[in-house]
Order: sequence, then structure tokens, then C-alpha cells
Amino acid sequence: MVKNTLLHVWPIPAFEDNYIWCIHDGDCALVVDPGDASPVLRYLEQEKLTLTGILITHHHADHTGGILQLLKSLGSSIPVYGPIGNNIPGRTQVAIEGDKFEISAPRISFEVHEVPGHTLSHIAYFANMQANVVEPMLFCGDTLFASGCGRLFEGTPTQMSQSLAKFIALPKNTLVYCTHEYTLSNIRFALAVEPNNANLITWAQTAKALRAQNLPTLPTTIGQELQVNPFMRCDQKEVIESALEVSGEKSLPSPAHVLAVIRAWKDRF
Ligand SMILES: [Zn+2]
Repeated sequence: MVKNTLLHVWPIPAFEDNYIWCIHDGDCALVVDPGDASPVLRYLEQEKLTLTGILITHHHADHTGGILQLLKSLGSSIPVYGPIGNNIPGRTQVAIEGDKFEISAPRISFEVHEVPGHTLSHIAYFANMQANVVEPMLFCGDTLFASGCGRLFEGTPTQMSQSLAKFIALPKNTLVYCTHEYTLSNIRFALAVEPNNANLITWAQTAKALRAQNLPTLPTTIGQELQVNPFMRCDQKEVIESALEVSGEKSLPSPAHVLAVIRAWKDRF
């Protein structure tokens, strides 16, 4: 029998609107940002999967709160990858910019990008095309959302702009696994920034229909976000014009300046 080795990526819902992504091959599984252990344990049991690793993007409790319980329930030798800092409970492997690591089961290799902004030590995991990955995948935590980006709790607009630039440079077909279902409210804001963006208007209808059926709007893709996400479009005329109008500035000399204005606008939207 030829085993289908393509990897599956499944959203385990947690809390109000978190997704804990589970990457598995039918036997072995990784989870990304398990803020809560219970839904992960239920899913692993239901699908008869063995947890072989945990990937953490940043220190917030809704991304890390389930780590210790998972280790306690499933085995303390499970590796936990995470960013630098002392606030990732159970972390066994520090992942920094440029790191590449391979996991044997499920077989997948990742590259690490440091993406400060939402938090200072936030990282993202990128899996380029490989034997059992037919489209590149990005696990971006709370840095990028469908039609939005994370709040700047620790970093600056310039850092977030540089972090998003790293994502903009990835292949357009990269599947982006964001960790919150914020899409509809993000789209409402994106439409305020770019009311004439035809792709965004179409996407608003599609996303509404998905949510009406209680389906995730994720993953998105880098190519899609380049068309509908104002934070990825800070060099576009309509986004710049909206930012100028809202800020009352005469000029906004860089995409980072535009991002600063629209991020602050979104915070009070
Ligand atoms: Zn967060």
C-alpha cells in the first residue's frame, strides 16, 4: 500500500476565536500555539494522533497556556520550539532568525523568521515546498491576519512594517495560517481604508458566506493578502490617501509611516 504522505493542517478552535493549527500525517502531529490543552487533547484522541512537537510563535497566554498540560498528559520529552525570552513555559529549543530545523514525524522542515511588532520576540515558521508539502506554509501567529495585522503591544510600526515585508517577499501561493478568526471585523476596517478595492469587496462577500456556515476563513495566502490587506498595501495609492486624510499629514514618506497611521486608526475603529 502506498501511504499518502501529504500533510494535513487542521484548525482546532480554542477560546472565543483562536485556532490552534495541527499539522499531521495521519499518525504524528505538531501543534502551533496551544493556548489551551483540552481541545488539543480531544482532537488528538479523536484522530488517534501522537503529538511529536509544539511550535510557539510568541509568549501571549492564549498561545502558550496549554503547553505544560500537554507535556504532563502526553510526555515531557516532546520538543517545544519557541522564541527567545524567559516567558515560554516548557520551551526546549530556542528558534531565531534563519534557523532551519527538520522534524522527522510528521516529516517537515521549517525556516524561522523573526517578526517583531505584536511582541518583540515574535517569530514565524515557514515551510517551503518539500516532499510532502505541495504549497509553502506560513505559521505567523498574531503578526498577520486575514485582511489585518496584530496590535503593536511591544514593537513599533517600523518593526511591524519590516516584519510584514518579510512575508511580502514569500511566494504568493504561501498558505498563511493565522491564529485568530478576526477576518470579518478586519474586512470592515479594510473597507474603510480602501472602499474602492474590488478584490476586497468580493472577499467580503466570500468571507461572510464562510462565517455564516461557521467555516474558517483561513488559511489565506500571501497573494490574497497583497490584494486585500491594507497593512500589506501601505505602498498603494488608496491606502496612502486614506492615511493622509486620517492623519492630516501632508506626506507620509514610507510604508512604515502609512502603517503607523492605519494601525492607530484600527485601534480606535
Ligand atoms: Zn498575541
